[in-house]
Amino acid sequence: MNIILLGPPGAGKGTQANLLVEHHGMLQLSTGDMLRETRKADTELGRRVAAVMDAGELVSDEIVSAMIDAKLADMGDEVGAIFDGYPRTEAQAHSLDDILAKHDRKLDHVIELVVDEEALVDRVTGRFTCANCGEGYHDRHKLPAKEGVCDKCGSTEFKRRADDTEDTVRTRMNEYRAKTAPILPIYDARGIVQRVDGMAAIDDVTTAIEKVLASA
Ligand code: ADP
Ligand code: ADP
Ligand code: ZN
Repeated sequence: MNIILLGPPGAGKGTQANLLVEHHGMLQLSTGDMLRETRKADTELGRRVAAVMDAGELVSDEIVSAMIDAKLADMGDEVGAIFDGYPRTEAQAHSLDDILAKHDRKLDHVIELVVDEEALVDRVTGRFTCANCGEGYHDRHKLPAKEGVCDKCGSTEFKRRADDTEDTVRTRMNEYRAKTAPILPIYDARGIVQRVDGMAAIDDVTTAIEKVLASA
């Protein structure tokens, strides 16, 4: 089972992908996470990627598609892949078709998380993660059970993304509207898009996604 989680910044893709990994042993393939690793390196590529990300623009199709191809080539015995934040352009959607065919896989579902635009700014500007295990949190919607301590690993170190500012979120939302939303018709034509209400509580969104996965 291979699925795409599609939605604008802050829609809940990472949160839901993590839960699917926990519940089903699927493999999360987040191009955002891969690029955050790339930008850490003190290299020409690392600097270029950091500048594009901090501007809220999209990294080139060639770079991200090559990353996805490499991850699928190394994939172990996970039951399937969750594409989180990829594809984001029509060119990437076509590359994904080629990459999946090359690795003898097919796409089962495209799950669109539908969220009000105004809520996205709140989601993204309140977002933080555990610096040790990466568990995602939110200032208002998902605080750790014990203040300042990660529920998952007990760490007391947290971090915020450099690109999670209100200005950058607006640019990222425009990028989504202009370049990513137009890929939906490609998958609609194949009858594999399922829309899920991303404004619901985190657990209710998970239940809705589980229903889609069970419907195959
Ligand atoms: P969010 O979870 O808020 O949607 P991501 O972590 O997926 O954001 O992506 C952060 C940034 O990384 C994007 O704004 C963009 O600069 C870059 N990026 C991530 N995935 C892609 C992709 N598939 N194509 C191009 N750029 C990407
Ligand atoms: P994306 O990967 O799509 O950019 P995230 O999964 O990182 O989005 O979610 C963005 C922020 O919103 C995080 O701080 C997360 O804890 C919070 N969040 C995710 N889903 C929900 C939800 N259904 N209701 C309220 N807050 C949510
Ligand atoms: Zn942690």
